[in-house]
Amino acid sequence: MERVMPAPHILDGRSLAQDLLEQIQEEVSRLREQQGRVPRMVNIMMGEAPGACAYARSQKRVAQQAGIQYDLLMLPREAGQEELEACIRRLNDDPSVNGVMIHKPFPEHIDYQGAANCLDVRKDLEGINVANIGKMLLGETRLIPCTPAAVMEHLKFTGQPLRGKEAVIVGASHIVGKPLSLLLLKEMATVTVCHIATSEAGHLPDHVGRADILIVAAGRPGLIKGEWVRDGAVVIDVGINKVGENIVGDVEFETAKERASFITPVPGGVGPVTVMMLMRNGLEAFKLQTQG
Ligand code: NDP
Repeated sequence: MERVMPAPHILDGRSLAQDLLEQIQEEVSRLREQQGRVPRMVNIMMGEAPGACAYARSQKRVAQQAGIQYDLLMLPREAGQEELEACIRRLNDDPSVNGVMIHKPFPEHIDYQGAANCLDVRKDLEGINVANIGKMLLGETRLIPCTPAAVMEHLKFTGQPLRGKEAVIVGASHIVGKPLSLLLLKEMATVTVCHIATSEAGHLPDHVGRADILIVAAGRPGLIKGEWVRDGAVVIDVGINKVGENIVGDVEFETAKERASFITPVPGGVGPVTVMMLMRNGLEAFKLQTQG
């Protein structure tokens, strides 16, 4: 029998980001009218990595569009852990600052999690403080790590219920795969998290083939073959890989899109929504501090 191909819907991250930006702009204007001030976020950057600066520039541009104040605080690359933590504490104590983030990449001598744990939990823009991670486990924080939050926005946009669905995540990092597993669990999906040992054991194609919802964040170009994808699956590709002059994801897009009901492109999928989630966290942080 001939296989019925579902029509693929490309999840356009730029257009979703634009919708989210409009919502954030409205909220920021309301705050400006009601409270006479807008959220202010500070990004601490150690040294000047050209790539990191480009990302910070794009964050600043989006913040300006949203009406949020965004400052870059440069520390020398050779600054030590103590200097970084002292800087974070000063920002914690500064009532004019609502949100703080530590820019990646950071120098090797820095204990990132140690620094993240110094952040005031109400100013933790990326939801990386251990207390916020714990609160996320309990479903008690609004400061959710930005990339997992962006994936959830894409899923929400599809309009598909997550309850009872087989959700398979490929990649188990602290910033993407693990927090995402908690968010999907909260929505009552049945969650499987695959990692390097899954691949080593040869089980990756089987898990991928079962997925109603497939989210890939491994940082390995073309890791997921299109033919593994289940017909009608929703495919969210978080991967950003430079291959020659091109940026590609972790999923073989052209073949996967023939099977998927929805699929994100790379670039133009999760990335633009992630930066919007940072802005939303800036708003949430402001509200936590001013409204509780
Ligand atoms: P990490 O390197 O921290 O984590 C990658 C994860 O993928 C690890 O759990 C690793 O497993 C797993 N993995 C690696 N290779 C394989 C494999 N062959 N089979 C199965 N699992 C594998 O990466 P990040 O989470 O920081 O980022 C992942 C990707 O997402 C990158 O391409 C990154 O650029 C992109 N990214 C995109 C963002 C966006 O906004 N769009 C934001 C953040 C990241 P193990 O630990 O067991 O080795």
